[in-house]
Amino acid sequence: MPVGTGSTVGALDALADVAARPEAYAAQWKARTGGRVVGILPMNFPREIAHAAGVLPVLLQESREPDTMGRHLLAEFYCGFTRNLADSAAKGALDYCDGFFVADHCTQLLGAVDVVRAEAPGSPVFLGQLPPSLTDEWARGEARLMMRTFVDEMARFAGVPVGDAALSRSIALSNDNRTLLRELFAARRAGNAALSSPQLQAVVKSGMVMDLAEHTELLRQVIQGLADLPRDNRVRLHLSGHLCHAPRPELLAAIEECGAIVVDDDLFTGTRWFSTDVAEDGDPVEALACWYLERDRAAPCPTRVKHETDWEDTLVEAVEASGAEGVIVLMVRFCEPHMLYYPELRKRLNERGIPHLLLETEHEGLPVETVQTRVEALLERIRRTAPVEVSR
Ligand code: SF4
Repeated sequence: MPVGTGSTVGALDALADVAARPEAYAAQWKARTGGRVVGILPMNFPREIAHAAGVLPVLLQESREPDTMGRHLLAEFYCGFTRNLADSAAKGALDYCDGFFVADHCTQLLGAVDVVRAEAPGSPVFLGQLPPSLTDEWARGEARLMMRTFVDEMARFAGVPVGDAALSRSIALSNDNRTLLRELFAARRAGNAALSSPQLQAVVKSGMVMDLAEHTELLRQVIQGLADLPRDNRVRLHLSGHLCHAPRPELLAAIEECGAIVVDDDLFTGTRWFSTDVAEDGDPVEALACWYLERDRAAPCPTRVKHETDWEDTLVEAVEASGAEGVIVLMVRFCEPHMLYYPELRKRLNERGIPHLLLETEHEGLPVETVQTRVEALLERIRRTAPVEVSR
């Protein structure tokens, strides 16, 4: 199926290459610019701070290598992402990073950070604690203090001052990038974007790695030449969950090959990543603190505590807005925050009569046949309950 013009296809290929081999892009960027690369751990560290310091922020991704050397470094009940990070650190696969920054959000991630610190002793690791409770009176001041500390630590790491003007420029560039991603995903929500879920994932994943301006330029090329397809009769699905890292592209492909089209999601490597802009006026450090505190309204996260928003409400609203006919919850095995929240999601989906399926993912992947059997059963259930259209 044609996705668009030659420039769209070329840009998509370039983005897919970066998504598949982030370390190769980082090495090439270092050779080209002479700059430093910092590994960012998900999900809350603002990339704008690194960008403003002239450093390339690379959001650390799950590798496709089987875990070997790092298997004994974290217990079996850690999630596959953290165990794979530990394995990558033990193998030296993160050596292209000159340092690591993390805004803590989960105890399992802290375990992975400890392993990175032990396995890469020559690289500084900065761990900062943002307030997990977002709506308490003290949260704003605490968030601002931590953002200020992040900026100061990044300046120390980069060996250059990071002023407000540089931060504001990086925030504006980052907002432009998010705006384009939202445009692309809105086209998918309308049901006529010519891109598959694995292609869209590559667009987002590459943006977690690439220089902002380069990624934005390729993103423009993708959007400008994108084909507009007529809406078809595939079952429309919403993908939910999968914190911190990307589900395997072959899993997304297997879902769509069953006769479904993913029209929306709240995945970290999806709408969660670009849900919220940072204010461009006023004090940029304050704006980054507000971004952290406000982001949860658009994309509630089970690792955060708040009293005004609930993930289940946001999920149901998104399903109604996109016209999705069912939901597939992708849960990283042993992801405690998601496991603890899932009963609320399931309860609300059941109350609203929204068909749904839970698929647990592992670093080693899932047998495609098993996934497809379960997805086909969900699609069959949806087709049987869908109202029959009567033509006059
Ligand atoms: S939030 Fe879930 S996926 Fe992320 S590090 Fe924690 S346990 Fe792993």
